[in-house]
Amino acid sequence: MAVYKGKYILQGLGTITPEMEHDLDIAYDICMSYREDFPCEMCGKCCHQPNIIIRPEEIDRVATAGGIPLYTFMTEYVAPTGDGMFLFRKTKPCAFLGEDNRCRIWKNRPQICDDFPYAVSMFMSRVYLALTNPDADILDLISYMDDTWPCTAVIKNDISKKVEEGRKLVSPRN
Ligand code: SF4
Ligand code: SF4
Repeated sequence: MAVYKGKYILQGLGTITPEMEHDLDIAYDICMSYREDFPCEMCGKCCHQPNIIIRPEEIDRVATAGGIPLYTFMTEYVAPTGDGMFLFRKTKPCAFLGEDNRCRIWKNRPQICDDFPYAVSMFMSRVYLALTNPDADILDLISYMDDTWPCTAVIKNDISKKVEEGRKLVSPRN
């Protein structure tokens, strides 16, 4: 696993070399372009899935926003991942999803919720892999995405074209 831009854990990638960094920047720009073009519709679908990661420095902010005492939050709401991060225990749906399907702590939600699905590890790492492997099909790589969600439907319809354009910019391979 590698951390990129201080916050993204890239699945399947180890140490980031300078050449990788250049190509990761291209992958990052592609992923984040969707946030500009198609902002989150706040449908709440992603708030029903597990693997919501919270960083240690976010714990205080999120617990306070949710009105949960820190001890209760640490013992009942999150579990350590073993690599310095924490996972939400209460998902399907998230404990902070209101009955109106809106996040109750929207302004203070974890960074990963703000990044989803644009720059979270699975999508970022697969766009990077598609950019750097001309034979890879990005649609195969992101077949895990449920395209009944507003944001992922847009991504699946559009990503092949962006990867094709991005391949012209990546570092030459031997
Ligand atoms: S599934 Fe996509 S559109 Fe819906 S709330 Fe999550 S990020 Fe927003
Ligand atoms: S914190 Fe908010 S945005 Fe994040 S999963 Fe929970 S309800 Fe959804």
